[in-house]
Amino acid sequence: MPNDHDVPANPDSLSRRSFMGTGSAAIAAAAFLPPPLTSQSSAQQQSSVGNAATENLPLLRQNASSNTPPPTDHGDVGPTWYSFDLTHKRVEKGGWSHQVTQRELPSSRELAGVNMRLDAGSFRELHWHTANEWAYMIAGSARVTVLTPDGRIQIEDVVKGDLWFFPAGFPHSIQGLASDGCEFLLIFDEGQFSEENTFSVSDWVAHTPPEVLEKNLRLTPEDVAKLPKHELFIFPAPLPQSLAQDRLSVGGPAARTPIDYIFRASAMTPTRSSSVGEIRVVDSLNFPAAKTVAAGIITLKPGGMRELHWHPTASEWQFYVSGSARMTVIAPGGRARTMDFHAKDVGFVPTAAGHYIQNTGTSDLVFLEVFKLDRVLEFSLNEWLRRLPPEMVAAHLNLDPAAISRIPSQKLEIL
Ligand code: MN
Ligand code: MN
Repeated sequence: MPNDHDVPANPDSLSRRSFMGTGSAAIAAAAFLPPPLTSQSSAQQQSSVGNAATENLPLLRQNASSNTPPPTDHGDVGPTWYSFDLTHKRVEKGGWSHQVTQRELPSSRELAGVNMRLDAGSFRELHWHTANEWAYMIAGSARVTVLTPDGRIQIEDVVKGDLWFFPAGFPHSIQGLASDGCEFLLIFDEGQFSEENTFSVSDWVAHTPPEVLEKNLRLTPEDVAKLPKHELFIFPAPLPQSLAQDRLSVGGPAARTPIDYIFRASAMTPTRSSSVGEIRVVDSLNFPAAKTVAAGIITLKPGGMRELHWHPTASEWQFYVSGSARMTVIAPGGRARTMDFHAKDVGFVPTAAGHYIQNTGTSDLVFLEVFKLDRVLEFSLNEWLRRLPPEMVAAHLNLDPAAISRIPSQKLEIL
């Protein structure tokens, strides 16, 4: 829609018309004309830089790549960004929780995320849900428990960088430990998952007739009267006894699950490491319990970049732990969108869409790439181009053989 701010389609004709004026005033006026614009994309950029109305500068500065997109961006890719800081935070005595699900990021049908904080001693109460739960410890330490259908239990203390995977329907608990509790990210393999929709032990007893509870749990009416009448969700409690004591009190090694539902990701040797950073790939190959969620945990030093790549069969759900990043998502039909990412942001890449991630800050960038898959699969643009006969690449990209030979011949992952 044309408006007063539109730049003339042919700047040359404007200049010529101005110089055809007869007086020196016309020539002086011409000196103040903007320089001729050379392409439509630069015209778009020029006309979009200014803002006639009041601006929300902190928000604009947070996402300069969206506000002043690179000229290579084009069309509508759909949402690729959301932030936990924009969501409602459920604040309870003992901690808080908030979520980014398909309701916030409509393209994310496969995965949803919850970010939760528990004070020292506080519980995320005994519960289960219909989705599988994959977790990453962001800070602090926690004691977790999970029961299997054969009546075995794993009780474990987890620290920053550790992961867990609790299968759908398996009852589990999380308790913050000294000195400052914990914070973690939960990933669920249902885009529509909601933390308001879990099966809780408190709801179970609050909504079962008392005489049924008395008979089933062999409790007295006085006992049943003490049971909670509403969902506990997150609540404060004393710190637990030692891990060894807790394990002993539930039957010792004989009661332990044969499968490990915990993975010490920070202790693993990086899958790839170089002067620009590290990648840890955790999927069912090294963490067999994690049958439906696979992840990359990436650290990029300032100036580092996750290479141009794509994943053939699943969308990618990202969580930015720390640092600053820029990502462009390249979708079919010549569509591309660039966004900036910071701590507590969620990034989304549709299935098979091309992307790269750059560290744009001055400190390390740490982020997670999560997939609803049993194995991480990816294609590298560099590797693809070098696996083909060079003549084929030359015909497509108009490059000479020397230039083609400079393209790295293998997956770099980070560079
Ligand atoms: Mn859970
Ligand atoms: Mn990726």
